[in-house]
Amino acid sequence: MLDKETKQKLLRSLPSITFLLDQEGTRSLIEKYSHDLVVDAANMVLNRLREQIINDQVQADLMPVSKDALPGKAQSREEDAGYYIAAIARELKSRFAPHLKRVINATGVVLHTNLGRALLSESALEAVLGVGASYSNLELDLDTGERGSRYVHVEKLITELTGAEAAMVVNNNAAAVMLVLNTFAQGKEVIVSRGQLVEIGGSFRIPEVMRAGGAHLVEVGATNKTHLKDYREAINENTALLLKVHTSNYKIAGFTSEVALEDLVALGQEKGVPVVDDLGSGVLVDLSRYGLPAEPTVQESIRAGADIVTFSGDKLFGGPQAGVVAGKAKYIEAMKKNQLTRALRVDKMTFAALEATLKLYLDENQAVAEIPTLRMLSMNVETLTQRSRNFASKLKKALNKGRQEYEKLALIQVIDGYSQVGGGALPTADLPTKLVALEPQKVSVTRLESWLRTAADQPVLVRVQKNQVLIDLRTVQPKEEGELILMLAESILEGGF
Ligand SMILES: *Cc1c(COP(=O)(O)O)cnc(C)c1O
Repeated sequence: MLDKETKQKLLRSLPSITFLLDQEGTRSLIEKYSHDLVVDAANMVLNRLREQIINDQVQADLMPVSKDALPGKAQSREEDAGYYIAAIARELKSRFAPHLKRVINATGVVLHTNLGRALLSESALEAVLGVGASYSNLELDLDTGERGSRYVHVEKLITELTGAEAAMVVNNNAAAVMLVLNTFAQGKEVIVSRGQLVEIGGSFRIPEVMRAGGAHLVEVGATNKTHLKDYREAINENTALLLKVHTSNYKIAGFTSEVALEDLVALGQEKGVPVVDDLGSGVLVDLSRYGLPAEPTVQESIRAGADIVTFSGDKLFGGPQAGVVAGKAKYIEAMKKNQLTRALRVDKMTFAALEATLKLYLDENQAVAEIPTLRMLSMNVETLTQRSRNFASKLKKALNKGRQEYEKLALIQVIDGYSQVGGGALPTADLPTKLVALEPQKVSVTRLESWLRTAADQPVLVRVQKNQVLIDLRTVQPKEEGELILMLAESILEGGF
Protein backbone atom coordinates (compact mmCIF):
# COMPACT_ATOMS: atom_id res chain seq x y z
CA MET A 1 0.00 0.00 0.00
CA LEU A 2 1.51 3.27 -1.09
CA ASP A 3 0.86 6.30 1.04
CA LYS A 4 -0.72 9.30 -0.57
CA GLU A 5 2.45 11.31 -0.59
CA THR A 6 4.47 8.59 -2.36
CA LYS A 7 1.73 8.20 -4.91
CA GLN A 8 1.85 11.91 -5.63
CA LYS A 9 5.61 11.81 -5.97
CA LEU A 10 5.52 8.81 -8.27
CA LEU A 11 2.86 10.40 -10.43
CA ARG A 12 4.86 13.59 -10.63
CA SER A 13 7.97 11.63 -11.55
CA LEU A 14 6.39 10.33 -14.74
CA PRO A 15 8.05 12.07 -17.67
CA SER A 16 6.14 14.08 -20.25
CA ILE A 17 5.64 12.80 -23.78
CA THR A 18 7.60 15.75 -25.14
CA PHE A 19 10.52 14.91 -22.92
CA LEU A 20 10.43 11.23 -23.95
CA LEU A 21 10.19 12.05 -27.65
CA ASP A 22 13.32 14.12 -27.32
CA GLN A 23 15.45 11.24 -26.08
CA GLU A 24 17.97 9.50 -28.29
CA GLY A 25 16.38 6.06 -27.77
CA THR A 26 12.92 7.27 -28.74
CA ARG A 27 14.23 8.89 -31.88
CA SER A 28 15.45 5.52 -33.15
CA LEU A 29 12.05 4.01 -32.38
CA ILE A 30 10.40 6.75 -34.42
CA GLU A 31 12.69 5.92 -37.32
CA LYS A 32 11.71 2.25 -37.10
CA TYR A 33 7.99 2.74 -36.54
CA SER A 34 6.46 6.19 -36.93
CA HIS A 35 6.01 9.33 -34.87
CA ASP A 36 2.31 8.63 -34.30
CA LEU A 37 2.79 5.01 -33.31
CA VAL A 38 5.52 5.91 -30.84
CA VAL A 39 3.39 8.68 -29.31
CA ASP A 40 0.54 6.19 -29.06
CA ALA A 41 2.70 3.60 -27.36
CA ALA A 42 4.23 6.19 -25.02
CA ASN A 43 0.77 7.33 -23.98
CA MET A 44 -0.25 3.76 -23.41
CA VAL A 45 2.78 3.06 -21.22
CA LEU A 46 2.36 6.24 -19.17
CA ASN A 47 -1.38 5.80 -18.73
CA ARG A 48 -0.87 2.24 -17.63
CA LEU A 49 1.72 3.31 -15.06
CA ARG A 50 -0.51 6.12 -13.86
CA GLU A 51 -3.35 3.70 -13.30
CA GLN A 52 -1.10 1.21 -11.59
CA ILE A 53 0.18 3.86 -9.21
CA ILE A 54 -3.31 5.03 -8.39
CA ASN A 55 -4.56 1.48 -7.88
CA ASP A 56 -1.57 0.40 -5.81
CA GLN A 57 -0.44 -2.08 -8.42
CA VAL A 58 3.06 -0.75 -8.79
CA GLN A 59 6.02 -1.36 -6.57
CA ALA A 60 7.54 2.01 -5.87
CA ASP A 61 11.05 0.67 -5.61
CA LEU A 62 10.86 -0.89 -9.09
CA MET A 63 10.05 2.40 -10.73
CA PRO A 64 12.76 4.78 -11.70
CA VAL A 65 12.19 7.96 -9.83
CA SER A 66 14.31 10.93 -10.68
CA LYS A 67 15.97 12.83 -7.91
CA ASP A 68 13.63 15.76 -8.13
CA ALA A 69 10.71 13.46 -7.35
CA LEU A 70 11.96 11.38 -4.45
CA PRO A 71 14.95 12.50 -2.45
CA GLY A 72 17.80 10.08 -2.21
CA LYS A 73 17.54 8.67 -5.70
CA ALA A 74 20.68 9.42 -7.62
CA GLN A 75 19.47 9.03 -11.17
CA SER A 76 18.86 11.91 -13.50
CA ARG A 77 15.70 12.24 -15.56
CA GLU A 78 17.71 11.31 -18.64
CA GLU A 79 18.89 8.11 -17.00
CA ASP A 80 15.35 7.27 -15.90
CA ALA A 81 14.14 7.69 -19.45
CA GLY A 82 15.74 4.38 -20.41
CA TYR A 83 13.15 2.56 -18.33
CA TYR A 84 10.24 4.21 -20.16
CA ILE A 85 11.82 3.87 -23.57
CA ALA A 86 12.33 0.14 -23.00
CA ALA A 87 8.67 -0.15 -22.02
CA ILE A 88 7.63 1.76 -25.16
CA ALA A 89 9.83 -0.48 -27.31
CA ARG A 90 8.24 -3.59 -25.76
CA GLU A 91 4.79 -2.16 -26.36
CA LEU A 92 5.53 -1.51 -30.04
CA LYS A 93 7.19 -4.86 -30.52
CA SER A 94 4.26 -6.78 -29.08
CA ARG A 95 1.83 -4.76 -31.15
CA PHE A 96 3.58 -5.84 -34.34
CA ALA A 97 4.35 -9.40 -33.29
CA PRO A 98 1.92 -11.87 -34.83
CA HIS A 99 -0.74 -13.11 -32.47
CA LEU A 100 -1.30 -16.17 -34.61
CA LYS A 101 2.13 -17.73 -34.56
CA ARG A 102 4.14 -20.85 -35.04
CA VAL A 103 4.30 -23.26 -32.11
CA ILE A 104 6.51 -26.29 -31.75
CA ASN A 105 4.30 -29.33 -31.25
CA ALA A 106 6.21 -31.85 -29.18
CA THR A 107 3.05 -33.64 -28.01
CA GLY A 108 3.12 -36.36 -30.64
CA VAL A 109 -0.49 -35.65 -31.60
CA VAL A 110 -0.16 -35.43 -35.36
CA LEU A 111 -3.49 -33.77 -36.19
CA HIS A 112 -4.24 -31.33 -33.42
CA THR A 113 -7.30 -29.20 -34.14
CA ASN A 114 -6.20 -26.56 -31.63
CA LEU A 115 -2.80 -26.41 -33.29
CA GLY A 116 -4.10 -25.95 -36.80
CA ARG A 117 -4.36 -29.60 -37.93
CA ALA A 118 -2.37 -30.55 -41.04
CA LEU A 119 0.93 -28.86 -41.94
CA LEU A 120 1.21 -27.91 -45.58
CA SER A 121 3.76 -29.55 -47.82
CA GLU A 122 6.54 -27.54 -49.44
CA SER A 123 4.81 -27.66 -52.80
CA ALA A 124 1.49 -26.51 -51.29
CA LEU A 125 3.31 -23.59 -49.67
CA GLU A 126 5.00 -22.64 -52.91
CA ALA A 127 1.64 -22.71 -54.64
CA VAL A 128 0.14 -20.39 -52.01
CA LEU A 129 3.03 -17.96 -52.43
CA GLY A 130 2.61 -18.16 -56.18
CA VAL A 131 -0.99 -17.03 -56.27
CA GLY A 132 -1.07 -14.96 -53.09
CA ALA A 133 1.12 -12.18 -54.38
CA SER A 134 -0.04 -12.23 -57.99
CA TYR A 135 -3.16 -12.10 -60.05
CA SER A 136 -4.34 -15.52 -61.09
CA ASN A 137 -6.81 -17.25 -63.39
CA LEU A 138 -9.00 -18.08 -60.38
CA GLU A 139 -12.22 -17.50 -62.31
CA LEU A 140 -10.96 -16.88 -65.81
CA ASP A 141 -10.78 -19.44 -68.58
CA LEU A 142 -7.47 -18.55 -70.20
CA ASP A 143 -8.36 -20.39 -73.43
CA THR A 144 -11.53 -18.47 -74.14
CA GLY A 145 -10.94 -15.32 -72.13
CA GLU A 146 -14.36 -15.85 -70.58
CA ARG A 147 -15.39 -16.15 -66.99
CA GLY A 148 -14.48 -19.58 -65.63
CA SER A 149 -15.25 -21.66 -62.57
CA ARG A 150 -12.97 -21.68 -59.55
CA TYR A 151 -13.56 -25.40 -59.14
CA VAL A 152 -11.85 -26.43 -62.39
CA HIS A 153 -8.42 -26.10 -60.82
CA VAL A 154 -9.01 -29.10 -58.59
CA GLU A 155 -12.10 -30.88 -59.90
CA LYS A 156 -10.31 -32.99 -62.47
CA LEU A 157 -7.64 -34.05 -60.00
CA ILE A 158 -10.23 -35.02 -57.40
CA THR A 159 -12.27 -37.05 -59.88
CA GLU A 160 -9.14 -38.71 -61.26
CA LEU A 161 -7.89 -39.67 -57.82
CA THR A 162 -11.21 -40.76 -56.32
CA GLY A 163 -13.13 -42.09 -59.31
CA ALA A 164 -15.99 -39.65 -58.70
CA GLU A 165 -17.83 -38.03 -61.63
CA ALA A 166 -17.64 -34.51 -60.25
CA ALA A 167 -16.33 -32.53 -57.28
CA MET A 168 -16.41 -29.16 -55.59
CA VAL A 169 -14.79 -27.55 -52.58
CA VAL A 170 -16.18 -25.47 -49.72
CA ASN A 171 -14.82 -23.94 -46.54
CA ASN A 172 -14.61 -27.13 -44.46
CA ASN A 173 -16.29 -30.48 -44.08
CA ALA A 174 -18.95 -29.08 -41.75
CA ALA A 175 -19.86 -26.64 -44.53
CA ALA A 176 -19.90 -29.50 -47.03
CA VAL A 177 -22.39 -31.50 -44.94
CA MET A 178 -24.49 -28.40 -44.34
CA LEU A 179 -24.56 -27.64 -48.06
CA VAL A 180 -25.63 -31.20 -48.88
CA LEU A 181 -28.48 -30.96 -46.38
CA ASN A 182 -29.52 -27.51 -47.50
CA THR A 183 -29.52 -28.48 -51.17
CA PHE A 184 -31.37 -31.78 -50.94
CA ALA A 185 -33.07 -32.06 -47.60
CA GLN A 186 -34.49 -28.71 -46.57
CA GLY A 187 -37.79 -29.38 -44.82
CA LYS A 188 -37.37 -33.09 -45.47
CA GLU A 189 -36.13 -36.11 -43.56
CA VAL A 190 -32.61 -37.50 -43.38
CA ILE A 191 -32.07 -40.96 -41.97
CA VAL A 192 -29.01 -41.55 -39.78
CA SER A 193 -28.01 -44.50 -37.60
CA ARG A 194 -28.04 -43.83 -33.84
CA GLY A 195 -24.50 -45.22 -33.73
CA GLN A 196 -23.31 -42.39 -35.98
CA LEU A 197 -24.61 -39.24 -34.28
CA VAL A 198 -21.11 -37.89 -33.91
CA GLU A 199 -19.78 -34.79 -32.28
CA ILE A 200 -16.52 -33.43 -33.65
CA GLY A 201 -14.60 -30.98 -31.51
CA GLY A 202 -17.69 -29.71 -29.73
CA SER A 203 -18.92 -27.57 -32.61
CA PHE A 204 -20.01 -30.12 -35.17
CA ARG A 205 -22.79 -32.40 -33.96
CA ILE A 206 -24.94 -34.24 -36.42
CA PRO A 207 -28.29 -33.34 -34.79
CA GLU A 208 -27.38 -29.65 -34.71
CA VAL A 209 -25.93 -29.62 -38.21
CA MET A 210 -29.21 -31.17 -39.40
CA ARG A 211 -31.20 -28.41 -37.78
CA ALA A 212 -28.92 -25.72 -39.18
CA GLY A 213 -29.21 -27.30 -42.62
CA GLY A 214 -33.00 -27.20 -42.30
CA ALA A 215 -33.40 -30.98 -42.36
CA HIS A 216 -35.27 -33.29 -39.99
CA LEU A 217 -33.12 -35.95 -38.44
CA VAL A 218 -34.65 -39.41 -38.34
CA GLU A 219 -32.63 -41.63 -36.06
CA VAL A 220 -32.73 -45.36 -36.66
CA GLY A 221 -31.32 -48.43 -34.94
CA ALA A 222 -29.64 -48.58 -31.56
CA THR A 223 -26.33 -47.14 -30.44
CA ASN A 224 -24.51 -50.41 -30.96
CA LYS A 225 -26.50 -51.98 -33.79
CA THR A 226 -28.32 -50.72 -36.82
CA HIS A 227 -29.70 -53.05 -39.49
CA LEU A 228 -30.68 -52.44 -43.08
CA LYS A 229 -34.32 -53.05 -42.20
CA ASP A 230 -34.17 -50.13 -39.75
CA TYR A 231 -33.40 -47.81 -42.65
CA ARG A 232 -35.94 -49.52 -44.90
CA GLU A 233 -38.75 -49.08 -42.37
CA ALA A 234 -37.92 -45.40 -41.88
CA ILE A 235 -38.04 -44.47 -45.56
CA ASN A 236 -41.18 -42.64 -46.66
CA GLU A 237 -42.17 -40.11 -49.32
CA ASN A 238 -40.58 -37.34 -47.26
CA THR A 239 -37.15 -38.98 -47.06
CA ALA A 240 -34.52 -36.87 -48.81
CA LEU A 241 -31.27 -38.64 -47.98
CA LEU A 242 -29.69 -41.63 -46.31
CA LEU A 243 -26.66 -40.29 -44.45
CA LYS A 244 -23.76 -42.42 -43.28
CA VAL A 245 -21.39 -40.63 -40.92
CA HIS A 246 -17.95 -42.05 -40.34
CA THR A 247 -17.40 -42.42 -36.60
CA SER A 248 -14.04 -40.81 -37.05
CA ASN A 249 -13.23 -39.96 -33.44
CA TYR A 250 -14.65 -42.93 -31.58
CA LYS A 251 -15.12 -46.66 -31.96
CA ILE A 252 -18.10 -48.71 -30.95
CA ALA A 253 -16.72 -52.06 -29.90
CA GLY A 254 -18.28 -55.32 -28.74
CA PHE A 255 -21.73 -56.47 -29.84
CA THR A 256 -22.09 -54.16 -32.79
CA SER A 257 -23.06 -53.96 -36.40
CA GLU A 258 -23.55 -51.20 -38.88
CA VAL A 259 -24.87 -51.38 -42.38
CA ALA A 260 -22.20 -51.60 -45.09
CA LEU A 261 -22.19 -48.69 -47.50
CA GLU A 262 -22.87 -51.09 -50.43
CA ASP A 263 -26.07 -52.28 -48.78
CA LEU A 264 -27.20 -48.77 -48.01
CA VAL A 265 -26.52 -47.80 -51.62
CA ALA A 266 -28.57 -50.77 -52.88
CA LEU A 267 -31.47 -49.72 -50.64
CA GLY A 268 -31.16 -46.09 -51.75
CA GLN A 269 -31.24 -47.10 -55.39
CA GLU A 270 -34.26 -49.35 -54.83
CA LYS A 271 -36.15 -46.50 -53.13
CA GLY A 272 -34.79 -43.65 -55.22
CA VAL A 273 -33.09 -41.95 -52.24
CA PRO A 274 -29.54 -40.61 -52.63
CA VAL A 275 -26.89 -41.90 -50.20
CA VAL A 276 -24.41 -39.49 -48.62
CA ASP A 277 -21.20 -40.63 -46.96
CA ASP A 278 -19.60 -38.12 -44.57
CA LEU A 279 -16.13 -39.58 -44.30
CA GLY A 280 -14.65 -36.95 -42.02
CA SER A 281 -10.99 -37.56 -42.75
CA GLY A 282 -10.26 -37.78 -46.42
CA VAL A 283 -7.92 -40.69 -46.81
CA LEU A 284 -6.70 -41.42 -50.30
CA VAL A 285 -4.10 -44.08 -49.48
CA ASP A 286 -4.44 -47.45 -47.77
CA LEU A 287 -3.06 -46.60 -44.33
CA SER A 288 -2.68 -50.25 -43.34
CA ARG A 289 0.33 -50.33 -45.64
CA TYR A 290 2.06 -48.00 -43.19
CA GLY A 291 1.23 -49.89 -40.03
CA LEU A 292 -1.90 -47.89 -39.22
CA PRO A 293 -5.45 -49.21 -38.86
CA ALA A 294 -7.25 -49.12 -42.18
CA GLU A 295 -9.53 -46.13 -42.70
CA PRO A 296 -12.20 -46.15 -45.38
CA THR A 297 -10.74 -44.36 -48.39
CA VAL A 298 -12.61 -41.91 -50.57
CA GLN A 299 -12.07 -44.24 -53.56
CA GLU A 300 -13.72 -47.14 -51.71
CA SER A 301 -16.69 -45.01 -50.86
CA ILE A 302 -17.15 -43.87 -54.45
CA ARG A 303 -16.67 -47.42 -55.71
CA ALA A 304 -19.32 -48.63 -53.27
CA GLY A 305 -21.71 -46.29 -55.07
CA ALA A 306 -22.16 -43.38 -52.63
CA ASP A 307 -23.91 -40.55 -54.45
CA ILE A 308 -22.14 -37.84 -52.46
CA VAL A 309 -18.97 -38.16 -50.35
CA THR A 310 -17.66 -35.34 -48.14
CA PHE A 311 -14.33 -35.04 -46.35
CA SER A 312 -11.98 -32.53 -44.71
CA GLY A 313 -8.95 -31.09 -46.46
CA ASP A 314 -6.88 -30.71 -43.30
CA LYS A 315 -7.24 -34.03 -41.53
CA LEU A 316 -5.58 -37.20 -42.84
CA PHE A 317 -5.63 -35.81 -46.38
CA GLY A 318 -2.92 -33.41 -45.19
CA GLY A 319 -3.87 -30.24 -47.02
CA PRO A 320 -5.44 -26.85 -46.25
CA GLN A 321 -8.71 -26.40 -44.36
CA ALA A 322 -11.41 -27.26 -46.88
CA GLY A 323 -14.46 -29.43 -47.36
CA VAL A 324 -14.30 -31.60 -50.44
CA VAL A 325 -17.52 -32.87 -51.96
CA ALA A 326 -17.19 -35.61 -54.57
CA GLY A 327 -19.81 -37.75 -56.23
CA LYS A 328 -22.36 -38.05 -59.02
CA ALA A 329 -22.37 -35.09 -61.40
CA LYS A 330 -26.08 -34.29 -61.12
CA TYR A 331 -25.81 -33.80 -57.36
CA ILE A 332 -22.60 -31.82 -57.47
CA GLU A 333 -24.00 -29.53 -60.16
CA ALA A 334 -27.11 -28.89 -58.06
CA MET A 335 -24.90 -27.99 -55.10
CA LYS A 336 -22.78 -25.61 -57.16
CA LYS A 337 -25.98 -23.74 -58.05
CA ASN A 338 -27.13 -23.38 -54.43
CA GLN A 339 -26.85 -19.73 -53.31
CA LEU A 340 -25.31 -20.92 -50.05
CA THR A 341 -22.28 -22.18 -51.99
CA ARG A 342 -21.20 -18.61 -52.57
CA ALA A 343 -21.09 -18.01 -48.83
CA LEU A 344 -19.10 -21.17 -48.21
CA ARG A 345 -16.60 -20.75 -51.00
CA VAL A 346 -12.86 -20.90 -50.51
CA ASP A 347 -10.24 -18.48 -51.72
CA LYS A 348 -7.35 -18.76 -54.13
CA MET A 349 -4.82 -19.68 -51.48
CA THR A 350 -6.85 -22.69 -50.45
CA PHE A 351 -7.27 -23.79 -54.05
CA ALA A 352 -3.55 -23.39 -54.64
CA ALA A 353 -2.62 -25.48 -51.59
CA LEU A 354 -5.28 -28.06 -52.37
CA GLU A 355 -4.25 -28.47 -55.99
CA ALA A 356 -0.60 -28.90 -55.04
CA THR A 357 -1.49 -31.45 -52.35
CA LEU A 358 -3.73 -33.40 -54.74
CA LYS A 359 -0.90 -33.51 -57.30
CA LEU A 360 1.35 -35.20 -54.76
CA TYR A 361 -1.21 -38.00 -54.54
CA LEU A 362 -0.71 -38.81 -58.22
CA ASP A 363 2.28 -40.81 -56.95
CA GLU A 364 1.59 -42.45 -53.59
CA ASN A 365 5.27 -42.69 -52.63
CA GLN A 366 5.65 -39.01 -53.22
CA ALA A 367 2.51 -38.30 -51.19
CA VAL A 368 3.80 -40.26 -48.20
CA ALA A 369 7.25 -38.66 -48.45
CA GLU A 370 6.16 -35.07 -48.94
CA ILE A 371 2.83 -34.56 -47.22
CA PRO A 372 3.85 -33.80 -43.61
CA THR A 373 0.84 -35.55 -42.04
CA LEU A 374 1.52 -38.79 -43.90
CA ARG A 375 5.26 -38.47 -43.38
CA MET A 376 4.83 -38.09 -39.61
CA LEU A 377 2.29 -40.90 -39.38
CA SER A 378 4.44 -43.32 -41.33
CA MET A 379 7.72 -42.42 -39.58
CA ASN A 380 9.22 -45.65 -38.25
CA VAL A 381 10.39 -46.29 -34.71
CA GLU A 382 14.04 -46.78 -35.74
CA THR A 383 14.15 -43.26 -37.17
CA LEU A 384 12.46 -41.90 -34.07
CA THR A 385 14.87 -43.79 -31.81
CA GLN A 386 17.88 -42.32 -33.61
CA ARG A 387 16.47 -38.82 -33.52
CA SER A 388 15.51 -39.09 -29.85
CA ARG A 389 18.95 -40.35 -28.79
CA ASN A 390 20.70 -37.59 -30.70
CA PHE A 391 18.33 -35.06 -29.28
CA ALA A 392 18.84 -36.26 -25.70
CA SER A 393 22.61 -36.09 -25.97
CA LYS A 394 22.52 -32.62 -27.48
CA LEU A 395 20.21 -31.46 -24.73
CA LYS A 396 22.59 -32.82 -22.06
CA LYS A 397 25.43 -30.91 -23.70
CA ALA A 398 23.38 -27.74 -23.80
CA LEU A 399 22.65 -28.09 -20.08
CA ASN A 400 26.28 -28.74 -19.20
CA LYS A 401 27.04 -25.26 -20.50
CA GLY A 402 25.16 -24.04 -17.48
CA ARG A 403 27.58 -24.27 -14.58
CA GLN A 404 26.01 -27.38 -13.06
CA GLU A 405 26.16 -30.89 -14.40
CA TYR A 406 22.99 -31.69 -16.26
CA GLU A 407 21.93 -34.47 -13.84
CA LYS A 408 21.53 -31.86 -11.14
CA LEU A 409 19.14 -29.98 -13.37
CA ALA A 410 17.19 -32.72 -15.10
CA LEU A 411 17.24 -36.46 -15.59
CA ILE A 412 17.05 -37.14 -19.29
CA GLN A 413 16.30 -40.47 -20.89
CA VAL A 414 14.75 -41.97 -23.99
CA ILE A 415 11.73 -44.13 -23.27
CA ASP A 416 9.01 -46.03 -25.16
CA GLY A 417 5.65 -44.44 -25.71
CA TYR A 418 2.84 -43.78 -28.13
CA SER A 419 1.95 -40.96 -30.49
CA GLN A 420 -1.62 -40.18 -31.46
CA VAL A 421 -3.22 -39.42 -34.78
CA GLY A 422 -5.64 -36.89 -33.23
CA GLY A 423 -7.90 -34.44 -35.05
CA GLY A 424 -10.84 -36.78 -34.91
CA ALA A 425 -9.13 -39.53 -36.85
CA LEU A 426 -8.19 -43.10 -36.01
CA PRO A 427 -9.18 -42.81 -32.35
CA THR A 428 -7.88 -46.20 -31.34
CA ALA A 429 -4.58 -46.05 -33.16
CA ASP A 430 -1.64 -45.78 -30.83
CA LEU A 431 1.52 -45.34 -32.81
CA PRO A 432 4.59 -46.75 -31.06
CA THR A 433 7.16 -44.01 -30.66
CA LYS A 434 10.19 -42.97 -28.62
CA LEU A 435 9.96 -40.15 -26.13
CA VAL A 436 12.64 -37.94 -24.66
CA ALA A 437 11.63 -37.80 -20.99
CA LEU A 438 12.88 -34.94 -18.82
CA GLU A 439 12.58 -35.05 -15.10
CA PRO A 440 13.47 -31.57 -13.88
CA GLN A 441 15.25 -31.48 -10.53
CA LYS A 442 14.93 -27.80 -9.63
CA VAL A 443 11.67 -26.82 -11.28
CA SER A 444 8.26 -28.47 -11.16
CA VAL A 445 6.97 -30.07 -14.36
CA THR A 446 3.89 -27.84 -14.37
CA ARG A 447 6.11 -24.78 -14.14
CA LEU A 448 8.28 -26.11 -16.95
CA GLU A 449 5.27 -26.90 -19.13
CA SER A 450 3.77 -23.46 -18.68
CA TRP A 451 7.09 -21.69 -19.18
CA LEU A 452 7.50 -23.48 -22.51
CA ARG A 453 3.92 -22.82 -23.60
CA THR A 454 4.03 -19.14 -22.79
CA ALA A 455 7.58 -18.53 -24.00
CA ALA A 456 7.34 -15.32 -25.97
CA ASP A 457 10.07 -16.20 -28.46
CA GLN A 458 8.80 -19.59 -29.45
CA PRO A 459 5.94 -21.38 -27.69
CA VAL A 460 6.48 -25.11 -27.25
CA LEU A 461 3.78 -27.65 -26.40
CA VAL A 462 4.79 -30.78 -24.54
CA ARG A 463 3.13 -33.65 -22.78
CA VAL A 464 3.34 -33.98 -19.01
CA GLN A 465 3.18 -37.31 -17.26
CA LYS A 466 3.62 -37.49 -13.51
CA ASN A 467 6.98 -35.85 -12.85
CA GLN A 468 8.20 -35.94 -16.44
CA VAL A 469 7.95 -33.68 -19.42
CA LEU A 470 7.70 -35.84 -22.54
CA ILE A 471 8.98 -34.81 -25.95
CA ASP A 472 7.73 -36.77 -28.96
CA LEU A 473 9.90 -35.88 -31.93
CA ARG A 474 7.39 -37.39 -34.38
CA THR A 475 5.58 -34.05 -34.54
CA VAL A 476 8.69 -31.88 -34.21
CA GLN A 477 10.02 -30.93 -37.63
CA PRO A 478 13.74 -31.75 -38.02
CA LYS A 479 14.53 -28.08 -38.67
CA GLU A 480 12.92 -27.19 -35.32
CA GLU A 481 15.08 -29.52 -33.24
CA GLY A 482 17.93 -27.09 -32.61
CA GLU A 483 15.55 -24.40 -31.50
CA LEU A 484 13.68 -26.84 -29.26
CA ILE A 485 16.91 -27.87 -27.54
CA LEU A 486 17.68 -24.23 -26.78
CA MET A 487 14.18 -23.62 -25.46
CA LEU A 488 14.25 -26.69 -23.24
CA ALA A 489 17.70 -25.88 -21.89
CA GLU A 490 16.63 -22.33 -21.19
CA SER A 491 13.43 -23.46 -19.48
CA ILE A 492 15.33 -25.85 -17.24
CA LEU A 493 18.02 -23.30 -16.42
CA GLU A 494 15.72 -20.34 -15.97
CA GLY A 495 12.20 -21.64 -15.79
CA GLY A 496 12.21 -21.82 -12.03
CA PHE A 497 12.94 -18.18 -11.49
C1 LIG B 1 -14.07 -33.71 -38.79
C2 LIG B 1 -15.37 -34.15 -39.22
C3 LIG B 1 -16.33 -33.24 -39.63
C4 LIG B 1 -16.07 -31.75 -39.62
O1 LIG B 1 -15.08 -31.44 -40.54
P1 LIG B 1 -14.37 -30.00 -40.49
O2 LIG B 1 -13.45 -30.02 -41.67
O3 LIG B 1 -13.71 -29.89 -39.18
O4 LIG B 1 -15.45 -29.00 -40.66
C5 LIG B 1 -17.55 -33.70 -40.02
N1 LIG B 1 -17.83 -35.02 -40.03
C6 LIG B 1 -16.93 -35.95 -39.64
C7 LIG B 1 -17.30 -37.38 -39.64
C8 LIG B 1 -15.67 -35.55 -39.22
O5 LIG B 1 -14.76 -36.44 -38.82
